Amino acid sequence: MHTAASDGQGCVADKYACAAARGLKEIAICDHGFGSILLHSTRRKFDVQNGDILKAAAMKSVTVRQSIEASVVNDAGDIDVPDDIIARCDVLHLGFHRLMQFGYIRRAPQFMLVNGWGTKSARLDEDLVEYNTRAFSNALRRYPVDVLCHLNHRAQVDVKRIAEVALERGVYIELNEKHIETMESAIGILLESGVTFILGSDAHRTAQTGLFPRVTEFIKRHGIPEERICGVGAEPRFKPKKNKTEV
Ligand SMILES: [Zn+2]
Ligand SMILES: [Zn+2]
Repeated sequence: MHTAASDGQGCVADKYACAAARGLKEIAICDHGFGSILLHSTRRKFDVQNGDILKAAAMKSVTVRQSIEASVVNDAGDIDVPDDIIARCDVLHLGFHRLMQFGYIRRAPQFMLVNGWGTKSARLDEDLVEYNTRAFSNALRRYPVDVLCHLNHRAQVDVKRIAEVALERGVYIELNEKHIETMESAIGILLESGVTFILGSDAHRTAQTGLFPRVTEFIKRHGIPEERICGVGAEPRFKPKKNKTEV
């Protein structure tokens, strides 16, 4: 979920209070990476948030994980979060976002603009799907990503190939409450592939914390087995982040 450290609402304590009231066991605070336009996290905001998360850890009724939602920015698989920040996270989320700073747009205009703002048919262009698939595959191989967010939201990929990389790298596929419709065409392939899913409220407002009406309907309609969903019947295991103890 997001907070006021990027384009969400409230702080860690607000999310904690709502999660505790709703009986959640574990949440991840996950603001947009440094390359997002205007409302992005920064080193200073990350430091403050990380301090708040350490305080929340002492309260114990809800486990609060430090994450950040990185954006993949080109087909080399570069992302907009520096390594030393990743090293301080418990969880790393990754997705495509179109509201990125100009430097990223200039270096990968097709990726940012056609995916982000083009028509649906333009986004389905074969070369672009190939580019997107390379971008995500490389990022998943280069970084300790735990969760692939809102798959196929704006940036369409070859789902079969991405599922193979996710499986090989132990990456969970997010069932995103805000964008679950983008998974309709992909779910068959994902179910066959053997990947594991994870709940993602993508809550920007505090009141959305832990609410999953659309995801619940999607899970039922597609018969996704509970034991394949972290947050329902599976316990998530997040990758150790490099040098975490040294920072
Ligand atoms: Zn956002
Ligand atoms: Zn996102």
